[in-house]
Amino acid sequence: MTKHLEQYPKEDHGIFKKDIDPDVYLISDSLINNGYQAFVVGGCIRDILLGKAPKDFDIATDASPSEICKLFKHAKIIGRRFKIVHVYVSEKKYFEVSTFRSDVKNKINQKKFKKVKGMIKRDNIYGSISQDAFRRDFTINSLYLDLDSQILHDYVNGLNDINQKKLRLIKKPSISYQEDPVRMLRAVRFESKLNLKLTKECKEAILKMSHMINDVSPYRLFDEILKIMHSGSGVDGYKKLRELDLLKYLFPFTYKILLNNEIYNDFIIAAIKNTDSRINDGLHVNPSFIYAVFLWPYFQELEENFSNSKTMDELFKKVIHDQSKFIAIPDFFQSTIFSIWSLQSSFLNLSKRNASYLTGFSKFRAAYDFFYIRSLINDDLKRFADHWYEIQKNVVNKKRDKGRNFNDRRNKRKY
Ligand code: ATP
Ligand code: MG
Repeated sequence: MTKHLEQYPKEDHGIFKKDIDPDVYLISDSLINNGYQAFVVGGCIRDILLGKAPKDFDIATDASPSEICKLFKHAKIIGRRFKIVHVYVSEKKYFEVSTFRSDVKNKINQKKFKKVKGMIKRDNIYGSISQDAFRRDFTINSLYLDLDSQILHDYVNGLNDINQKKLRLIKKPSISYQEDPVRMLRAVRFESKLNLKLTKECKEAILKMSHMINDVSPYRLFDEILKIMHSGSGVDGYKKLRELDLLKYLFPFTYKILLNNEIYNDFIIAAIKNTDSRINDGLHVNPSFIYAVFLWPYFQELEENFSNSKTMDELFKKVIHDQSKFIAIPDFFQSTIFSIWSLQSSFLNLSKRNASYLTGFSKFRAAYDFFYIRSLINDDLKRFADHWYEIQKNVVNKKRDKGRNFNDRRNKRKY
C-alpha cells in the first residue's frame, strides 16, 4: 500500500462535534495546547462513519507515555507488550491515549519491538502518525480525526473502503495474519457486526493460515471469541468461523463431532440466536453460557462413552483440560458451566418437590435457558421444557426487577 495522505474536511467526512464525547475534546485540547499532536482514531471513527454509536473513544498522540502522564493529574501507564495511558476524567471514566507507533525495526530498538516467528510480541517503538497508520490492522480502523481542525487524515484509503463497505487489511494478508493471528478473528467480527465484505485476498489468506490461531495465547482467545459471540451478530460470526476453518482450531473436539452430527450445529445456532436477541434487546448475557454451549457436544460424547466408569466431575474436568490447550476458560466461568450442565438431568423430573429444589439454585435460570434451547432441537424434551416454562415464569415474576427473561419472547416466535 502506498503512503499517500488524503485529508478530508468536515463537509467531506460528515463527522460532527456532537458525535464525539466532550471529554475527548478536553484531553485533545490539553495535548495540543502543550505542543503535541492529538487525533481521535480507530473503532470510534469507523463506527460513526458507519452510522453506529461508538463504544469508546481512543486518542493517538506524538507525546510519549511519560509525557502524557505529566500533563494529566489522573493518568496511569498500563500494559507491557503495548504501553498505553489511561487518562481519567472522573473516578470511573477514562480514555485510552496511545503514542504513535512504528513497526520499523532497527538495531537500536530491538528490545522495544520483538517478533518471534513473524508474530509481534512487543510493540513499543514510537513513531510518526504515518507510521502509526500503517501498523494498524484494517484500513477502516486507521482513520485519524484532528479535533482542532476537524480534518480527517487517511493514509490507507480507509474512507473509500468504508463507503464501499469493504474490509481490507493494510498490509499483505499473509504478513498481517502472521504478525497477529487474532486479526483473523477481528476480520470475522467486523465483517459480521458491521456488515462489511472482507476482500477476496484477505479471506483466502485466512483459509490458508487458520491453523496459526493456535499460536495465540488461550487467554486472549477466550476474550476474542466472546467479543464475536456478544457482538449481536454472533450467528453470522459463528457461521464464518466454521466456513473459514477457524472453528476447527478453536474448538477441535466439538468441531469433529459436528462433522457427523449436524443436530449439534442446530443447537449451537439456536443458542447463539438467543444470545443475539438478548444483546440486541440490551439484556444481560453470562459469558459462561456460550462456552457451555460450545463444549456441550464434547461433554455429551464423553458421557455416552464413559458415564459407567467416570463421574460427571471427572468428565467435566477432562472437557476443560482438553479445551484449555486452545482456549482457556477462567475458573470463575468454569463453575457456572458445571452448574448448567449438572442441572440438565433434573429437568426430566417433573415432581413438585423437584421444582422447589431446582428453582432454589442460583444458576436455575441459566440452566433452564440451556434446557429450553436443547428442547428446540430435540422433540423428546419439549414437554419437559413446556412444564418448566410455567414454573420458571413464576420464578421470574418473583424476581421481575432483575430483568426480563428470554422466554417471554418465545410467544413472539423468535425461533
Ligand atoms: P471495538 O472496540 O469495536 O472492538 P476497535 O477497532 O476499536 O473495535 P480495539 O481493540 O479497541 O478495536 O482497538 C483500537 C484500534 O487499535 C483499532 O481500531 C486498530 O486501529 C488498532 N488495533 C487493535 N487491535 C489490533 C491488532 N490486533 N492489530 C493491529 N491493530 C490493532
Ligand atoms: Mg475500541
